[in-house]
Amino acid sequence: MMSAMARNRLLLLALNLIWVMTGSLGAQTGWVLINHRLAGNHGGGSPASWMVRATDHFDIYYERQHERALDEIAREAERAYARVSFDLKHELAARVPLILVQTDRELPQDRRQASELVRASGAPDRDHVLLALEPSDGRAVLLVHELTHQFEFEMIPLSSGVPAWVHEALSDHETGTWTPSDLVRLRDAAAAGVIPTVAGGAPLDRLWGHAVLDFVAAEYGTQGMRRYLTALRNSAQPSDSVLAPFGITASDFDRAFQTYVRTRFNDR
Ligand SMILES: [Zn+2]
Repeated sequence: MMSAMARNRLLLLALNLIWVMTGSLGAQTGWVLINHRLAGNHGGGSPASWMVRATDHFDIYYERQHERALDEIAREAERAYARVSFDLKHELAARVPLILVQTDRELPQDRRQASELVRASGAPDRDHVLLALEPSDGRAVLLVHELTHQFEFEMIPLSSGVPAWVHEALSDHETGTWTPSDLVRLRDAAAAGVIPTVAGGAPLDRLWGHAVLDFVAAEYGTQGMRRYLTALRNSAQPSDSVLAPFGITASDFDRAFQTYVRTRFNDR
């Protein structure tokens, strides 16, 4: 499991990357100009110390000293892709640029550092996944989380009107795991009987969004979860119209969700 600190760093990184991605969509951001200029200086190719290995769904940007780890990373990345692609029934339009660094201490802490790393690696000017080789513990989980964001950018962009909680909640859901701190919060809520009434339109956060997606997937399968995500695109909040494809009323949905949370998370 990732430590809380490592997780916080990763969340920060994820936020930075989202900024970078959104920024690159802007017509003329500094980000875009810098990258275009450097791509020109390098003749469109990679700087000498960085190399690229293409797998079925990734272009892995790495430095020579990390070559030994590449087979393992390529396997992890393709396993993550298979998992997310299967769940979401979607294939990404292009290979994902995956940039490797040695340790999580080398991961960028802000967008300036992120742009420097991307520039140095020679990766193209679009959204990337950055990955630290160490710690290897929790690396596969992080990879699934970050890769899920790439699918979200294509499938349910911010402009599609989905509620704000969906992106992080879906990325967390796809990892199939819960962090210890999230588990504590859910167990406390379950023990106290403080579980949000989802279908009634209560605003959800990342934690409860993750729990709802786990519930929908457990109850209705991955196909049900995809239907739920599609319905959310057209609705600011879960409501009877969101639940219509499931043939269930809002109150039945909430009752079932509360039972699910109490059963799964209240182990006291
Ligand atoms: Zn994220």
